[in-house]
Amino acid sequence: MKITTVAVIGAGTMGAGIAQVCAQAGWTTRLFDAFPEGLTRGMERIDSFWDKGIARGKTTPEQKAEWAARLTAETDMKAAVSDADLVIEAVPELPKLKANIFAELDAVLGTNTSSLSIADIAAATKRPDRVIGMHFFNPVPIMSLLELVRHDATSEATVQVAQAAGEAMGKTTILVKDVPGFATSRLGVVLGNEAIRMLADGVASAKDIDTAMVLGYRHPMGPLALTDLVGLDVRRDILLNLQASFNDDAYAPHPLLEQLVAEGSLGKKSGKGIYDWSSGEAVEREHRLD
Ligand code: NAD
Repeated sequence: MKITTVAVIGAGTMGAGIAQVCAQAGWTTRLFDAFPEGLTRGMERIDSFWDKGIARGKTTPEQKAEWAARLTAETDMKAAVSDADLVIEAVPELPKLKANIFAELDAVLGTNTSSLSIADIAAATKRPDRVIGMHFFNPVPIMSLLELVRHDATSEATVQVAQAAGEAMGKTTILVKDVPGFATSRLGVVLGNEAIRMLADGVASAKDIDTAMVLGYRHPMGPLALTDLVGLDVRRDILLNLQASFNDDAYAPHPLLEQLVAEGSLGKKSGKGIYDWSSGEAVEREHRLD
């Protein structure tokens, strides 16, 4: 099957990046968000990414114009998905929300969930064989991994479409079974949660915990800085899903993580998380558990 048209549902951190790489891959790309401000923000983010590329000499105004001509902002979901060969969903990590969106669709459906069961999402559709996890990483235009997650009923044809799509987007794909947290999120959130526990226990400063993993284990970024980049609310939700699906409190979000989410410290996107990002740099802040 040849892909010509792709719809991306949800224009947030991930959806905007996914729509960007789809347009760059040469496909007619429709980006939809249920909220006008979400759609505007997503389109602006893509535009500014391309402008930065021009400023750095990585792309040209002509190239940007070509990509931009393939990308449209849609305020109507039906219009966005009509005739789409592939629909990629990137709305918040809420099972009901994702299931409702997929219930009406018939194309090959990729969900960017970080932790939910693909089989459960597929059960809400008429064509579970066409549903596959397409787990991208943040920032999508830069991160080269695409984790494909097949549930028991995912057809071989669907896997092939997703693999070909990933390749056209310049990604390396891995194929993983539909188990909670897949291959990536499970390890990633456990490391981040444990780093938060160590911070709360006063084992070391946030910067020193991060430096331990960067210099000692060659991670490109420490687990606390990465948690701020991903979003504390996103990571908390993944941990809650893992805790429920494995029925294991080892995955329970640490109370400090819960507290930070409750006070609105969601990471880089809100200006503060584990670190204070208001200056543009990661600045250590004091954390006290209530
Ligand atoms: P986000 O909050 O930045 O964006 C979600 C967007 O969806 C918002 O713009 C919101 O307005 C929109 N939305 C809400 N309800 C909608 C609906 N009914 N229809 C259409 N749009 C709707 O979230 P995000 O960080 O982009 O995460 C999206 C998904 O990607 C989640 O499943 C998350 O687990 C997964 N994910 C996130 C990351 C990450 O690093 N942030 C990485 C991999 C996967």
